[in-house]
Amino acid sequence: MKLGTKLIHAGVEPDPSTGAIMTPIFQTSTYVQQAPGQHKGYEYARTQNPTRDALQNALAAIENGKHGICFGSGLAATDAVIKLLAPGDEVIASADLYGGTYRIFTKVFARYGIKFHFADLQNADNLLNYVNEHTKMIWVETPTNPLLNIIDIAACAALARDRNILLAVDNTFASPYLQNPLDLGADLVVHSATKYLGGHSDVVHGAVIVKDDALAQQLAFIQNSCGAVPGPQDCFLVLRGLKTLHVRMQRHCENGETVARFLRQHPKVGKVFWCGFEDHPNHAVAQKQMRGFGGMISFTLQDDSMEAALKVLSGTKLFSLAESLGGVESLIGHPASMTHASIPREERMKNGLVDSLIRLSVGIEDAEDLVKDLEQAIG
Ligand SMILES: *Cc1c(COP(=O)(O)O)cnc(C)c1O
Repeated sequence: MKLGTKLIHAGVEPDPSTGAIMTPIFQTSTYVQQAPGQHKGYEYARTQNPTRDALQNALAAIENGKHGICFGSGLAATDAVIKLLAPGDEVIASADLYGGTYRIFTKVFARYGIKFHFADLQNADNLLNYVNEHTKMIWVETPTNPLLNIIDIAACAALARDRNILLAVDNTFASPYLQNPLDLGADLVVHSATKYLGGHSDVVHGAVIVKDDALAQQLAFIQNSCGAVPGPQDCFLVLRGLKTLHVRMQRHCENGETVARFLRQHPKVGKVFWCGFEDHPNHAVAQKQMRGFGGMISFTLQDDSMEAALKVLSGTKLFSLAESLGGVESLIGHPASMTHASIPREERMKNGLVDSLIRLSVGIEDAEDLVKDLEQAIG
């Protein structure tokens, strides 16, 4: 089955008790038993919920995995993945990570004796500088946030496989419409469903998708034991979002390209970061592992001052100044003071995250209006 069909049908069956074509929101904490231990497969809603089950099955199908495990947020999904590890284990993570991921690694799990190395993985061979007998996981985000660098997932997988290291890929930016890390050899896919999967900026949600049964069992154990589960209404909203992912993503890609090309020829704009440019340093890898280039763009201004950036950030009318991304509406953000404020300035600058950098999540409005809005804001 192709992706568009899976997005609408996978995991979803008409409700057996009523025929409701849409999976109901099973807003219940517990389920009645006929006799002790005699039930319909549902005992307590932290452990199982039918709305969550439908979503988990749908997510597994669209990422070409076997098991989906859902959480109350993207970071709760990340939390569960790192809990697969034990004190003394080491993780090699790509530099230029989502700020919250960097924070949970360095401020939470580092205290539990897990060691994190941050490496520029645009050349996957750089992993070899950090691998040792304690390395248990490689954590990759691609495209990276906010500089839209691309990491070769298959090359990382090849290095991980021989060494018995798990490869986890945060696929939030690409979404399964553009990229399927499990097909490229990754062991775990992590999503903040808050972004493109939900797609309407109305829910916070996360998921992990895997092929391996034993790994799925461990994650389900963590999901139930630690309890960071999503509510059924949130699962319903993500399920509904999925049904239009392919249609939305197609438009995000088209609008992203129009906006990126507009910015690039603008005399007041400095660098434009978008992996669809033919001269983007990792364009060939993007072409190999992605089916399009998405709607995330970052750019700097010729006037590389904080003031110039702030003028653009407060001058747009259609692009709303907000954190987050991946919704139908266009957003504009300032990584240094918003999404990436939790990363120390020195660390940020090292990764090219300058103070004047502006990030766009290009929505699915009419591209002409988006370009006009940026034109008047940049002046
Ligand atoms: C937002 C985001 C997260 C965290 O997800 P939440 O749902 O906000 O917890 C993780 N990774 C990436 C790439 C993100 O954009």
